[in-house]
Amino acid sequence: MDLYEYQARDMFEAHGVPVLKGVVATTPEQAREAAETIGGPVVVVKAQVKTGGRGKAGGVKLAKGADEAEQKAAEILGMDIKGHEVRRVMIAQGADIAEEYYFSLLLDRANRNYLAMCSKEGGMDIEQLAVERPEALARVAVDPLVGIDDDKAGEILETAGFSTRDAVKIAPVLKQLWEVYRDEDATLVEVNPLVKTGEGRIIALDGKVTLDDNAAFRHPDHEALVDHAATDPLERKAQERDLNYVKLDGSVGIIGNGAGLVMSTLDVVAGAGEDLPGSPKPANFLDIGGGANSKVMADGLDIILSDEQVESVFVNVFGGITACNEVANGIVEALDQLGDRATKPLVVRLDGNSVEVGRAILAEYDHPLVTVVDTMDAAARKAAELASAAITEKN
Ligand code: GDP
Ligand code: MN
Repeated sequence: MDLYEYQARDMFEAHGVPVLKGVVATTPEQAREAAETIGGPVVVVKAQVKTGGRGKAGGVKLAKGADEAEQKAAEILGMDIKGHEVRRVMIAQGADIAEEYYFSLLLDRANRNYLAMCSKEGGMDIEQLAVERPEALARVAVDPLVGIDDDKAGEILETAGFSTRDAVKIAPVLKQLWEVYRDEDATLVEVNPLVKTGEGRIIALDGKVTLDDNAAFRHPDHEALVDHAATDPLERKAQERDLNYVKLDGSVGIIGNGAGLVMSTLDVVAGAGEDLPGSPKPANFLDIGGGANSKVMADGLDIILSDEQVESVFVNVFGGITACNEVANGIVEALDQLGDRATKPLVVRLDGNSVEVGRAILAEYDHPLVTVVDTMDAAARKAAELASAAITEKN
């Protein structure tokens, strides 16, 4: 889960990372009140969207006083930044910036390690810096068992070319950011810019944090950080039922067991639909996992059939730990539960563990919407054809 900047700011503050005052607002009036609370000659009105480059897009504006804060908030709220609608702004205390640096700590999957990146040239587009002048961006491996201690902080800052004077001031902040990373189970902590003020203070002016969802069970407090309003309603429903579901844009609903099988099912369906009228594509990713029972199957079908874009459903199960009879029973259960609400055709391909029993259950059920097809390719084609027919009929 990616956090909003204001959430990252609060998290930083809780771990002792130096930040400036910041208050979130959803209306221009609230922005005015926030600016009054924060005080000072200048505040900064910052769009809260989960994407970078807000500054360049006009989503970060200085305001002299509460009147101007209200006015800038009115301009920024409702803006579209790279496809993200701005629904809230953060009013932040203005900073007297002398220098802007870059620091990030992230999970380095390729090297199975953590990686710190640091540069004296922050603020700007770091991707661009990494391409144009890679030598200006220090990359230092961080041992997960040791983290960033005094030695490591010194190494990072020296590699980035900081003077000893500056390094002494910045090192404690890097250590605190490491604590955020470790204690909150993050996979990314990025500060751009990390600034030095005119007075020589080091402050994290913008923060980006990605939390590891796999560690959510250790952090009951992280639940409060989820922006439910921004989550797709079907994905939310799937999460509540512990289903591994991702909504896509097509019209063929997909259910399979095992991430690998579901991924290849998406490819096969996309391939089958390519040359058909309306080019039907997969509507979702849904992995019911190994050992799925009929309840999981029924929950999955329920979610897919409530997607209005779906015109046909492809159930592709290779029975391993999951027995095909469980899957067949799940389909029967789901269709019974849904009753008249089930209006979309289902193409089912079952193979592996208990396939004969599974097919027999479906044959006996003999539901008008269900077609059993023996191979994955043929079933994908059938599901794509059904969706194609429905799309063409609509248009
Ligand atoms: P981003 O563009 O989405 O990364 O948003 P940032 O929070 O990094 O802000 C972009 C830029 O706005 C920063 O690099 C700063 O140059 C500037 N900025 C942000 N806050 C302040 C502030 O309090 N005072 C001043 N003078 N500039 C600021
Ligand atoms: Mn930034």
